Amino acid sequence: MRPDHEVVVIGAGFAGIGASIRLTDAGIDDHVLLEEGDDVGGTWYWNQYPGVAVDIPSFSYQFSFERRTDWSRVYASGKELYAYARECAEKYRVRERIRFGVRVEAAAFDDDAAVWRLQTGGGNEVTARFVIGATGVFSQPKPPDIPGLERFGGVTVHTARWDPELDLAGKRVAIIGTGASAVQVIPAIAPVVEHLTVFQRTPIWCLPKPDRPIPGLARRLMRLPLGDLAGRLASQAFVEATFPLPLHFGAVLPFSKLAERSGRAHLRQQVRDPVLRKKLTPAYAVGCKRPGFHNRYLATFNRSNVELETDPIERITKTGIRTKEGTLHRAEALILATGFRLFDDANPPFVVRGAGGVDLASWWDENRLQAYEGVSVPGFPNFFTVLGPYGYNGASYFTLIETQTRHILRVLRRARKQGATRVEVRREANERYFRSMLARRGTQIVWQDSCSLANSYYFDKHGDVPFRPSPTLETIWRSARFDLDDYRFEDVAA
Ligand code: NAP
Repeated sequence: MRPDHEVVVIGAGFAGIGASIRLTDAGIDDHVLLEEGDDVGGTWYWNQYPGVAVDIPSFSYQFSFERRTDWSRVYASGKELYAYARECAEKYRVRERIRFGVRVEAAAFDDDAAVWRLQTGGGNEVTARFVIGATGVFSQPKPPDIPGLERFGGVTVHTARWDPELDLAGKRVAIIGTGASAVQVIPAIAPVVEHLTVFQRTPIWCLPKPDRPIPGLARRLMRLPLGDLAGRLASQAFVEATFPLPLHFGAVLPFSKLAERSGRAHLRQQVRDPVLRKKLTPAYAVGCKRPGFHNRYLATFNRSNVELETDPIERITKTGIRTKEGTLHRAEALILATGFRLFDDANPPFVVRGAGGVDLASWWDENRLQAYEGVSVPGFPNFFTVLGPYGYNGASYFTLIETQTRHILRVLRRARKQGATRVEVRREANERYFRSMLARRGTQIVWQDSCSLANSYYFDKHGDVPFRPSPTLETIWRSARFDLDDYRFEDVAA
């Protein structure tokens, strides 16, 4: 059987765009992208809440081969990143390969034909020899499990499904959650709403963000030969020192203590009321969960129209939110900054059945999350993920995208060369990789005792934290050098 396409990429965020560019470079022209939304951009398409911006410097949060020297700020806004995604999709002719408004509901490997059958709703099917999952991790909004949510009489909106028409000016607003999204949306809307009640369950460490407009001189310097490369290298070094290294060596080096000192100083500087400050101070060490980065988040709680509620929510009523102690906070609009479904069957966000009909979510449930180099799972031939377990090391997602697509393209090139129709990672290679990941996690920051107080989404139900415990250079080196014989290449469709 000849499949519809040699490769189908699922998702047209930066991961899908990056994969498509590399496929085209490799001469794999017979590929399409399936995208649920009606435009490119992924995260930056779906998350258009006020204040949305990146937390990694823009010089690192971009493709290495498509560097912009005209970012307006050190940390680009969501709008700028969305525009960058559209530009990349146009320039590299990715857009013309995308089928928008197509949601993949299920993927099943047809053993006999060695092809993937993708169900896309309405009884439609797309077949592909190879599938690249590029659906990200923060794609499935998680509404809170609070009684009465559906009875709320005002407007309810999740940060990741923001309605650009929503006008909060002069309204009484409630927001549930104080994660990285809330840290950005709260200071952005506080000046325009009449009243804002913030429902905090677990305080977040909020660290200062070295964000500012990029001065004209710096932009001119970056346009000089090697200027932007120098900026990029400095930015990559900064990211490495502030994300992957603390994450992976935080148990043996004092990153957490230093960050906590900075977090406490930031709190003291921004919040004068000691009672309020105490409520905003986390009981867990920095690094147990993703911190926020903002220069105005904490100070926003000094405003007379902003109230921090830490009493647990009992229920949501037609007119507002009632807490356990019985206070009813009236609201006309309710913002759910409650994050995303990450584990179980949420990633990838469709049912995946591999060889012999084995369900990926159940396989992970029984065997723990694992994927060879974060890309491939034994028993799931011809299927690759850009953001699989133990793939992401905490650096810029762009570094991850380029690293993992390098891995995938090496495999696909070999498959082409050998005329292989079925490519599967060997079980022993996967086990070796998984064991090495587990053996190295002891130095990670997340294993501090106080993390049990953090309510951190980093941990799955087995207690695993599927970050890749590796410095970025090692991940890059591995993607270029891993042994291709760790995969089995066969021609079974002949
Ligand atoms: P999140 O970090 O998962 O935060 C969700 C918040 O909602 C938490 O404060 C959580 O409290 C609270 N919550 C959830 N269910 C609740 C309930 N039933 N009752 C009360 N509170 C509840 O989600 P997020 O803020 O959307 O961020 C997710 C991730 O996206 C981030 O960690 C980050 O990786 C990424 N992100 C990045 C950026 C950026 O780069 N600029 C911006 C936004 C998001 P608990 O802590 O108690 O669970």
